[in-house]
Amino acid sequence: MRHTLPLLVVLSTGVAAQQVPVPSGNPSVVAALESIKRENAWTLQQQVSICEIPAPPFKEAERGKELVQRFRSLGLVNVRVDPEGNVIGERPGTGGGPTVVLSGHLDTVFPEGTDVKVKLDGTRYRGPGIGDDCRGLATILTVARALRDGNVTYPGKILFVGTVGEEGPGNLRGVRYLFKNPPEKIDFFISVDGTGLGLTTGAVGSHRYLIQFQGPGGHSFGAFGMPAPIHAMGRAIAKVSDFKVPSTPKTTFNVGIVSGGTSVNTISPLGAMEVDLRSESPEELLALDTKLKNAVQQAVDEENARAPGSAAPVTVKWIDMGVRPAVLINNGSHIARSAIAAGKALGFTPETGASSTDANFPMSLGVAAITLDGGGIGRGAHSIAESYDDGPEGWKGPQWVLLTTVTLAGLGR
Ligand SMILES: [Zn+2]
Repeated sequence: MRHTLPLLVVLSTGVAAQQVPVPSGNPSVVAALESIKRENAWTLQQQVSICEIPAPPFKEAERGKELVQRFRSLGLVNVRVDPEGNVIGERPGTGGGPTVVLSGHLDTVFPEGTDVKVKLDGTRYRGPGIGDDCRGLATILTVARALRDGNVTYPGKILFVGTVGEEGPGNLRGVRYLFKNPPEKIDFFISVDGTGLGLTTGAVGSHRYLIQFQGPGGHSFGAFGMPAPIHAMGRAIAKVSDFKVPSTPKTTFNVGIVSGGTSVNTISPLGAMEVDLRSESPEELLALDTKLKNAVQQAVDEENARAPGSAAPVTVKWIDMGVRPAVLINNGSHIARSAIAAGKALGFTPETGASSTDANFPMSLGVAAITLDGGGIGRGAHSIAESYDDGPEGWKGPQWVLLTTVTLAGLGR
């Protein structure tokens, strides 16, 4: 919403000419970067031990309490838990510079009772949440430790934050709270989420609905002819299946769950489906949303038309399961160029794209926000078979995050 596509192209092609200076030669930063590599085992230990504390959606408090302790032991100040459950710790600078939020998310997608014990299998750590987002939390702890070890100072201020509710059911509740009740003006927002060395500069938006088709129901033989909620739902699914969507900007739809019915010989009083719509473009997402609403209404009308004047027509009820705004990819902003320059200073060029993370919300408000991967190699996110392999250079993730953060906090070359 902040940028049009042609403008983006212009900004992106200007990247080389507008290199952001990064302080990769500053002696205190060099010391911090070296300490990250040297203390790599500590980072992994943080990642594993955090992962073994369960943090199902809406039940992140225990993991949050532990993060409070770790923030304090690393010398962060004013460490607290806000009313939504976010854990916040501060590392002030010399004053007069921008405020940078450096965050990872506390929650996982896994329900209570999931076995979260991490097992080491060769060089691979296996455990639900080990990459998403225990890697992010371990990375921000490592950055806090390295800044302390290198005695790094900068004009701005860094707020270290463990957010709640990043995953689906939480619908970004932590980051929404943070920006609706900001502890101070936030100039830059970084989410460290997942693994690899990718940079997210756009937000894939999503709309999710539970759609309930309702009627009185009745006997399949005796009440035959009565409009049937499940039949109406079937008509709707057939229409959704035929939607045409663009591949660029990537736009998708899915009917993920269907339910309803009591027996084979009953006209069910209820048919329900859960639908997920996503797009990299706010306009396409909105267009798809309208298409879905029209398709459902048409399906209901067609089903009811089988029994004109019926006293028991099918009706439909929409239950909103979450809206995440889409924001077009923007690699030309200062925050994106800082992350790209920091990657290059460390010897790699980050791949950029759009995804769905905590950064969606500040992006939608026009706040400069990105998501950085935390390094290493992750597999099977959101499955109980999730694994993490540090690879030969896992420490590059935390180094990249540190260098990007201090650049944004105003530490010049
Ligand atoms: Zn995540």
